[in-house]
Amino acid sequence: MDEAAGRLQQYLEARRETFIRELLEWLAIPSVSVLPEHRSDCNRAAEWIARRMRAAGMQAELVPSGLPGAHPLVLGRYDASPGRPTVLFYGHYDVQPPDPLAEWRTPPFHPSIVGQDVVARGASDNKGQIWALICAARAMIAVDGRLPVNLRVLVEGEEESGGRSVAWMVQRYPERLRANTVWMADGPLFSRQIPALYTGTRGMVYAEIAVRGARTDLHSGMYGGVAPNPLVALAHILSRLRPWIGQVDLPGFYDAVRAPSDEEAAQWKSLPFDEAAFQEEMGVSAMPGEPGFSALERVWARPTFEVHGIRGGFTGDGAKTVIPAIASAKVSMRLVPDQDPRQVAESLRSRVLALCPTGVSAEVSILQADPPVQLPIHHPMLRAGAEALEEAFGREPALARMGRTLPALVAISQGLGIPVVMTGFGLPDDRLHAPNEKFHLPNFQRGILATMAFLRRIGATGQ
Ligand SMILES: [Zn+2]
Repeated sequence: MDEAAGRLQQYLEARRETFIRELLEWLAIPSVSVLPEHRSDCNRAAEWIARRMRAAGMQAELVPSGLPGAHPLVLGRYDASPGRPTVLFYGHYDVQPPDPLAEWRTPPFHPSIVGQDVVARGASDNKGQIWALICAARAMIAVDGRLPVNLRVLVEGEEESGGRSVAWMVQRYPERLRANTVWMADGPLFSRQIPALYTGTRGMVYAEIAVRGARTDLHSGMYGGVAPNPLVALAHILSRLRPWIGQVDLPGFYDAVRAPSDEEAAQWKSLPFDEAAFQEEMGVSAMPGEPGFSALERVWARPTFEVHGIRGGFTGDGAKTVIPAIASAKVSMRLVPDQDPRQVAESLRSRVLALCPTGVSAEVSILQADPPVQLPIHHPMLRAGAEALEEAFGREPALARMGRTLPALVAISQGLGIPVVMTGFGLPDDRLHAPNEKFHLPNFQRGILATMAFLRRIGATGQ
């Protein structure tokens, strides 16, 4: 180990407790972005991280979003020298609501250390992870006197509430985010031991299907047997769109689906993934749906159709014999490269109308449409990311995909047109969005090391 690396290590050892104590302070702020009563907490959480970034030697400010009712963005900046490459860190300070509260063993906003984990809402998603990035930059500035790269930091407050402020920012002030690459950690390792380099995310079309029948609700004793029942019509439409076993029945739905590259496919086959354990984790006895693909392929690289809720008629206790006038369902389709959300939305609309039985009318409203993202696996920035992860975790990262949809990633990777190195320092069982969310502290340290290794590697490309 050279002298500089030794000094950094000493610094990290000496600050280990401080970094964790500060993280607990941040976690104690209930920055739940989706609940209006936490608006001022979101502001406080944004102020907190901006203040910490300044203390670390960066510039930082809160940028009010131009969108109505939105939470502020935190923008950080560190200028090493104009000739150096620029890295953009991305993360979010907002968290999911904590309920059901009764299931938390320790209160969600009284962070506690249990064994080697910090337990609190937002511990892993995403405060602990973005904090590792900030601490890495802070350590390098403190010990080396400067960063090897120019740095931009974007910490948003609406990741958990479907906000669009990042897209707004990218459109309004692209120059303030301009960078050669993005480094983000918002997810899990592939497994306890194997880090992940994410190569893509799924997109999503979210829609509501409404079916209308008679002018008003009807008594099934007087009209039952002849009146068209919107709930039955809805069930008919949904079961045709999404057979229990088989493919989604939308014209052209699979036409643009790109098979994973040979390299990705080979990698996925070699990953230690236990389908029986996956089934067990869900607590189910079968995995119906599209045949002919492994479970990993189905959650990473195949599109879906899911039903999230059905509304209509009588759902209270006891019996009420009503034929409802209207019924509706919330549905979504996860999309994979190169499916186009607009085409899928159009196809859904026309297919629902075609499937709609006589006597009722159907209407489709599109609530969200985000494209899938495929990141450039062979880009030198992603190679540098893979090497940095290997250095910190002692294992080559798995080339994984994320089945989730990240609108901010779409805005950043497509809007700015720069390669995003996407990884995560959480564990697969961190209980994101669930009670007793936790973050494994040894991975916090590895996350700091991986980030420093990444910045060093990117810095070296610009010398
Ligand atoms: Zn997150």
